[in-house]
Amino acid sequence: MGLNVIMMGPPGAGKGTQAERFARERGLPKISTGDMLREAIKEQNPIALEAKKLMDRGRLVDDATIIAIVRDRLGKPDTRPGFVLDGFPRTVEQAVALDALMVERNQGPLVVIDVVVPDQELVRRLGSRRICGQCGTNADPGKTECSKCGGALVVRADDDGQVVLERLKVYERATRPVLEHYRARPTFRVVNGAQAQAKVAADVDRMIDEAAAASGGAAGRGRTVPVAGERHMSARVAE
Ligand code: ADP
Ligand code: ZN
Repeated sequence: MGLNVIMMGPPGAGKGTQAERFARERGLPKISTGDMLREAIKEQNPIALEAKKLMDRGRLVDDATIIAIVRDRLGKPDTRPGFVLDGFPRTVEQAVALDALMVERNQGPLVVIDVVVPDQELVRRLGSRRICGQCGTNADPGKTECSKCGGALVVRADDDGQVVLERLKVYERATRPVLEHYRARPTFRVVNGAQAQAKVAADVDRMIDEAAAASGGAAGRGRTVPVAGERHMSARVAE
């Protein structure tokens, strides 16, 4: 059975950092829709260049485009042992599409981690965030160059003041409901992202392992979708 993880949380919560670390330590692919879009923009992909206009304003890219990108990526064989999703799903429509994909895959349930951080801390973090201009990696605090490739550090286009506030608003409106889509599932866990990074990491690991173990029992009874999630899902489909 696969270890399928979704890292949820507002911009600046540190979910990307945790997703990256957890995926590396467990040998799973980290799938970040934001990174994939930025990669495609670098390669001058026409759909991605269209999407960039929305990204630069802090808006979401349309569901159909994002869902197609994720469906494609989850079709690759490296995701068979599982995956860590970062930045997807961001709307209830994306979550419903992912539920359908998971039923198709039949490789274990989703473990959903919500990294929670107070708003004023998010604004502070995003205001001081720097990324590598070459490889896009988040810079370590206090560093003047990228620890991965030595590239120069820059402010990410959408970390600019007004755009940050817009992204937080979009998060509240479009993405907060996704948490309600998952909250009743036995594999949903909340982590306090305002703690020291090592403590967040330890909590994330413990929560994921615990949720996966708990759901392993349920899946062992012959079905891969947890009962609560299934009920929730059919409720949504019926709407
Ligand atoms: P954040 O730090 O806000 O989590 P990301 O790197 O995940 O940033 O995403 C950057 C931008 O890419 C988003 O503001 C949005 O425009 C676009 N994007 C990424 N993932 C999605 C998604 N699942 N649905 C719609 N738009 C997305
Ligand atoms: Zn770099």
